[in-house]
Amino acid sequence: MGWWFKIDLWKRVMLGLSLGLLVGAGLRYGIGTETAVTASGYFKPFGDAFINLIKMLVVPLIFTTLISGVLAMGDPSRLGSLGGRAIAIYMITTLIAVSIGLIIGTILQPGAGFDVSGVTLADIESTRATLEANVAEPVGVFEQLTRTILAIIPTNPVAAMAEGDVLAIIFFAILFAVGIMLAGEAGKPIAVAMNSAADAVMRLTLLIMETAPFGVFALMAWIMSSQGLSILSNLLLMTAALYLACGLHILLTYGMLIKIVNRLPMFPFLRGIVDAQMVAFSTASSNATLPMTISCATKNLGIGKPVASSVLPLGATINMDGTALYQGLIALFAAQALGIELGASDYVLVAMMATLVSIGSAGIPSVGLFLATTTLGVIGVQPDNMIIILAVLFPFDRVLDMMRTLTNVSGDVAVATTVANYEGELDEDIYRAPDPI
Ligand code: ASP
Repeated sequence: MGWWFKIDLWKRVMLGLSLGLLVGAGLRYGIGTETAVTASGYFKPFGDAFINLIKMLVVPLIFTTLISGVLAMGDPSRLGSLGGRAIAIYMITTLIAVSIGLIIGTILQPGAGFDVSGVTLADIESTRATLEANVAEPVGVFEQLTRTILAIIPTNPVAAMAEGDVLAIIFFAILFAVGIMLAGEAGKPIAVAMNSAADAVMRLTLLIMETAPFGVFALMAWIMSSQGLSILSNLLLMTAALYLACGLHILLTYGMLIKIVNRLPMFPFLRGIVDAQMVAFSTASSNATLPMTISCATKNLGIGKPVASSVLPLGATINMDGTALYQGLIALFAAQALGIELGASDYVLVAMMATLVSIGSAGIPSVGLFLATTTLGVIGVQPDNMIIILAVLFPFDRVLDMMRTLTNVSGDVAVATTVANYEGELDEDIYRAPDPI
């Protein structure tokens, strides 16, 4: 078994992903759709077990590493500059992402000539029911803002942890760390305990990450055998537009951030985050990927604990470039399919709204599609037409979501690298090391 562990983890995860794709496609197109769908049921529990394992780490990991990170920083006021920088860069990259989505959508015209009359009543009804269960009533900007701020302050931190409410956990963990510092001598034992708990959870994370190649394999085999490549025939242009726009955003925007702003080579960055990208791609959840993201950032890229433990959990919730970019594409797809003329002001509105909605939502599967109700509302799509557009996209959302999530996670790490570099918290020797884990 030793030989297996000698292979870099990122290569093993890539292998799992490729084999999963191959096995799933082999089943789907080798033994027929129905048997493949039955077979997919055997892969799913293994994939779900992997997702449960990594989700299990999210709350203890954020709580302990953030407290230990703030304690390591020594001065809580540094958190202000660190958080301010992170939020500013998060917003800028998100705005660029929506713009890339709008540009690619204008060039490729994914919705032009798309016949929405083929949508069945059953699809419309099931989409309506899903939306009713997942989308809150739209409210004004002020009310939305106050709701978001109030939701960050947990009335019961234990309940926030039970619900995996990332922003509320971050808020409580930071204040708790400040409390430990203010307690001086009396706070020392808990500081030591928190540091050792953070180390233990980090070790556990590395251990669980060893299951990633198998988990990613099971998830990809499940998706491919149950859904196959049907997306390619139905929404080929939309899929191509999203993958292309996300690829460009990763290479150009993050490339500029890493190479020009930070003056660092791009290759170690890309190689260092491959594991997190693959887990993001197969789970379609930035929140669930968080443990992998934090471990890649610290172990492969040399991002210091104070930055990784604060900027990355924050990013999993508030920074979603792939999701925002998708809002730009959906707006254009709907406008083209429904024949709505968009003016320059609509583009600006979509860009602003997409940035705002992507900030307020958790990194879980399909969120990007639910957020589209707000984006489509902004460009004047009527509720009935909105349901039709979403009913078209809904069955294929997973394949689009996988790429959105990969982009979201890459963006979190690109910004964390930048903040770490500014704050003197980036270990360049680790970043540039030829062999990451
Ligand atoms: N699934 C994405 C994420 O977790 C959000 C989305 O649906 O776009 O980051």
